[in-house]
Amino acid sequence: MSCIAVQNLISQYLDGRLEGAEAELVRGHVRECADCAQDFQDSQFLSRLLKENLDLPEPPKDLPESVIRTVERDK
Ligand SMILES: [Zn+2]
Repeated sequence: MSCIAVQNLISQYLDGRLEGAEAELVRGHVRECADCAQDFQDSQFLSRLLKENLDLPEPPKDLPESVIRTVERDK
């Protein structure tokens, strides 16, 4: 499976929308590929952040700038 394909699936994986075999492909690839592992971690962090902070008008002040920008863009 290519990195592009994996990265396209990561958000679906994190939403729990992938079937077992596909989820396994993503997990397997992320274990082997540093680029996708990084992407996976960033996405996982952001998705948790977005879920936990859905009711907040402002992102917490102690977040890195880059994260705040990403959150703002996704609104
Ligand atoms: Zn990869």
